[in-house]
Amino acid sequence: MPSIKDIMETMEYGPAPESNAEVKDWLAGHADGISHFIGGHFVTPEGPMTTVINPADDSVLARLTKAGADQIDAAVKAARAAQPKWAALGGHARARFLYAIARHVQKRERFLAVLETMDNGKTIRETRDGDIPLVARHFYHHAGWAELLESEFPNHRPVGVCGQVIPWNFPLLMLAWKIAPALAAGNTVVLKPADLTPLTAQAFAEICADVGLPAGVVNIVHGDGETGALLTGHPDVDKVAFTGSTAVGRLIREQLAGSGKKLSLELGGKSPFIVFEDADLDAAVEGVVDAIWFNQGEVCCAGSRIIVQEGIAESFFSKLKARLSALRIGTPLDKTMDVGAVVSRPQLERIRALVATGEAEGAILHSAPAELPAQGTFCAPGFFTGTAPAHRVNQEEIFGPIATTLTFRTLEEAMQLANDTRYGLAATIWSQDIDRAISAAARVKAGVIWINSTNLFDAGAAFGGYRESGFGREGAREGVLEYLAPVLPGSRKERSDPKLVPTFAPRKTKHDVPAIDVTAKLYIGGKQKRADGGQSYSVTGKGGAIIGHAALGNRKDIRNAVEAAAKVGSWANVTGHNRAQVLYFLAENLSQRRAEFESLLIHSTGASSKSAAAEVEASIRRCFWYAAYADKFDGAVHTTRQRHVTLSLNEPWGIMGLVCPDERPLLSMLSLILPAIAMGNSVVAIASQSHPLVATTFYQVLETSDLPGGVVNLITGLREDLAKTLAEHDEVACIWYCGSAAGSAMVERAACGNLKATWTDLGHVRDWLADTEGQGAEYLRRATQIKTVWLPYGE
Ligand code: NAD
Ligand code: MN
Repeated sequence: MPSIKDIMETMEYGPAPESNAEVKDWLAGHADGISHFIGGHFVTPEGPMTTVINPADDSVLARLTKAGADQIDAAVKAARAAQPKWAALGGHARARFLYAIARHVQKRERFLAVLETMDNGKTIRETRDGDIPLVARHFYHHAGWAELLESEFPNHRPVGVCGQVIPWNFPLLMLAWKIAPALAAGNTVVLKPADLTPLTAQAFAEICADVGLPAGVVNIVHGDGETGALLTGHPDVDKVAFTGSTAVGRLIREQLAGSGKKLSLELGGKSPFIVFEDADLDAAVEGVVDAIWFNQGEVCCAGSRIIVQEGIAESFFSKLKARLSALRIGTPLDKTMDVGAVVSRPQLERIRALVATGEAEGAILHSAPAELPAQGTFCAPGFFTGTAPAHRVNQEEIFGPIATTLTFRTLEEAMQLANDTRYGLAATIWSQDIDRAISAAARVKAGVIWINSTNLFDAGAAFGGYRESGFGREGAREGVLEYLAPVLPGSRKERSDPKLVPTFAPRKTKHDVPAIDVTAKLYIGGKQKRADGGQSYSVTGKGGAIIGHAALGNRKDIRNAVEAAAKVGSWANVTGHNRAQVLYFLAENLSQRRAEFESLLIHSTGASSKSAAAEVEASIRRCFWYAAYADKFDGAVHTTRQRHVTLSLNEPWGIMGLVCPDERPLLSMLSLILPAIAMGNSVVAIASQSHPLVATTFYQVLETSDLPGGVVNLITGLREDLAKTLAEHDEVACIWYCGSAAGSAMVERAACGNLKATWTDLGHVRDWLADTEGQGAEYLRRATQIKTVWLPYGE
C-alpha cells in the first residue's frame, strides 16, 4: 500500500473500482441460465448450455441456451398475437410505456452500466457516461414519436412483426435503437442479442415485465447466427432490422429476396478520419482517442483510417504517440481506465491476425507502451504508419483499437483516399476552415459526417450507411419511417409477365399502322444508339399486329448506359431550381406532342382514347409535381442533445436503375424517372418490354429538352435479362423494379453484390393514375439517401 506521500510524489492512479456487488447478486439469481423472454414469460432454459464470459478476466458470468425453431416460432406467434392490440392502444398509451421503460433504465443506470461492462469488457466510464444514458435518451425520444405518430405520419401503418438481430459491441444501445422505434410505431418485436453479450438484454426483459408491457410486445430469444437466421428467415416476420457485419448483412439480403419483408441493414465500415493542415491538432488528437481507441475500436463507425495532410503529418503522429502513452488500459470496472478488454478471445485473435498482415505488408505499428493485464483479452491500442491504400489493413475492418494512417497533399487527393473503400458509414473531418470542412463533408460518400468532432450519437439524428455499410437509418424521423408502411388503397392486382413474347420476325415492308413504323434505337448518353448486338424485336400493338421494331439491348448496352450515367456527375450539383426548370420544359414538350402520344398509346396498348388522354395528361401533371418538389424536398436541422447544428441532407444516390412495367407505359415510366432526376440522380431505365415505342418516342422529347445527355438513358429489350445486369452492376446504387414477383426476388438477390438499395413491387400492379400510388413523398425518399452532418458550435 503506497503512502499518501508516495502517491503525491508519483501522481500514480490508485485503483478505483466500481462495485459489482449488485450485479453479482443478480447473476447468482440467474445461475440456472439466461432465459428467453417469450409472450411475457421467462422460458426456463433447456438443452446444451454455452457460457457467457467476462473478457476482462475470463470468468464465467452466466450460461445460455440457444433458441431453436420451436422457440423462434413461439416468439413470432406471441409477437403476432400482440401486435394488433399494441397498435390499437394508440400513440399516447404506447408513449407511456416507452416513457416508463426510459425511467426504469435511468433508475437502474448504475446496475446496467456495471453489467454491460462485465459482459462486454468496455470500460465503466463508457457504459456509465455513454451507452446507458443514450439508451434512456433513445426511449424518451421515441416515447415522443409514439405520442406524435398519428399527426406526424398520416396515412402510415405499423409494418407488423419485426425480427431484429444485433451485435455485441453496444449490446443494450443497439437493443434500444431497434426496439424503441419499432414499439413507438406500433410494431411488436422478436430480438436476438449477440450470444457473446446477452446479459443486458435479459435485464431489459425484466424491465419490460416490471413496467407491465403487454405480453408479446417485446420477445427476446438468445442464440448464435443459426438462431439469428431462423428469426430473419421466419415467414411470419414482416420486417427485419439487422446490425452486424457486412458479410452477414449480405446473407440476410439474399435470404429475404422476394419475401416482401421490409429490411434495414446497419453494417460495417472503414471510416476516414481526415485531418487538414489548418486543423486544431490537439483537438484532432483527442478525436482519434474517441474515434478508434474508444470501445476498444469495436465500433462500426470508428475513424479507422486517419488521413493527414502532408505538412503536419509528422507532428500529428508524434502527438498521437505521446497521447498513446498516456492511455490507461486495464480492468474495465476501474473508473480511471480508458481502454478495456476486447469482447472475446476469437475477436482478439482476429485483430492480431489482421494487424500481422499490416506488418507483413511493411507498415510500422506504434502501440501504446502499456503493460497489459495477465488475464483477460486485452489489446494494446495503436496505429500504423507507412501503409499503402491497397494494404489489407486499409481495406478491411480491423474492429479493434488500431488505426491506419495515410497522407495527402490536396483536398482532391484527400477525397480520393476517403472514398477509396466499399463502405460508407461515417467520416470525420478536421479543419478550422468552415468552407473546406463543408465542401469535404459534401464530397465524402458516407451516411454520417462529423466535423471537428467524432463518434457523436443521438436519438434525434439519423445514423446509417452508404454503399456496403447498408441501407436504412436509425434515429430521428427517418428511423421511425423504417418501421412504418404507407397505407395503400384496396387489394392489389398481381402483374402477369409481359404480354408480349418477343418475336424476332424480319422487318416487313408493310404494316397496319405505317405512321409509327420504326426500328427504334436505344438512348445512351443523350444519343440514339444502335443496340450492341444489332438485333431488334417486333413490337405488337392492338390486335397483335406488328407496329414496329425496337432494339434488343444486351448486357453491354446496360454497361454503356451506366458508364454514360456516371459521366454526368454535374447533374447532382445542378440547383433544385434549375432541375425544376428542366422538368417544366419536359412537361411543355410533352404537352405539345400530346396527340402523338395519345395515338401511340392507343395503337400500342389498345387503350381507349379517353384512357390514353388521361395517361398523357397525368404524365404532364407528374412533371409539374416533381418539378415543384425539385427545390422543396428539404432536409432538416435536427435537434440533438449536444450543441451542434445537426444537418440531415437528402443526397441523390448517384446512378439509379429503373425497371418499368407494361401497364400505363408512358405514365409509369415517368413516375419512376421524374422523382429520380428531380433529386439529382442519373438513371438507366429499362422501358416497358411490351410497349417500348412509347419510351423511344419519349426520348425525342428528351432530345429537345435541356436535360444533359446521360442523365436519362433508355434501354429496350427483355426486361428480366436487362434487369439482372442492372441489379448486378456495382456502380448502380439503387434499383427500382416493377415487374413480376419472381423478377422482384431476382433483383433483390442480384443486388447483394454491392448491397444496393432496392424497391420492388413483388409483381403488384400500381394504380399509376392515382396520385396516392403513382407519386408521393415515398418516391422522393427512395430517390435519396440521408447524410447526417454534425457541426459543433460554441466553445
Ligand atoms: P456478425 O454479423 O457476425 O453478428 C451480428 C449478429 O448477427 C449476431 O447477433 C449474430 O449472432 C447474428 N448472425 C450471425 N450470422 C447470422 C445469420 N446468418 N443470420 C442472422 N443473424 C446472424 O457481427 P459481429 O462480429 O457480432 O459484430 C461486429 C460487426 O458488426 C462489425 O462488422 C461492425 O462493423 C458491425 N456493426 C455495425 C453497426 C452499425 O450500426 N452499422 C453497429 C455495430 C456493429
Ligand atoms: Mn461476454
